[in-house]
Amino acid sequence: MKVGIIRCLQTENFCPGTFDFKAIADKTGVFEGVEEDIELVGFISCGGCPGKNAILRAKKMVKLGADTIVLASCIEKGTPLGYKCPFAKMMKDSLVKGLAENIKILDYTHE
Ligand code: SF4
Repeated sequence: MKVGIIRCLQTENFCPGTFDFKAIADKTGVFEGVEEDIELVGFISCGGCPGKNAILRAKKMVKLGADTIVLASCIEKGTPLGYKCPFAKMMKDSLVKGLAENIKILDYTHE
């Protein structure tokens, strides 16, 4: 699995992404049950509110080899502040619409 992670720009200010990297290394969270090796292709923010750059950034990571785009837990779960992204659905919809059907889109990284 080749993964490209999109995170919240607001959260990037204070979160180093440790639990995202740990979830990949330990195959926990959304990666639980993945049997193949997981390679991180990219780790980038949405570009800022309202997340319109997310699809462009996802496409770039796909071009660089990602077969799976993951919205980090800070977006749909609002981790760690419990403050979800108000644009998460539109962002996800833009990924579903803009990426090829064979690209997996996952909604969170870790619990
Ligand atoms: S669009 Fe959502 S994910 Fe992106 S910076 Fe704004 S709140 Fe964060």
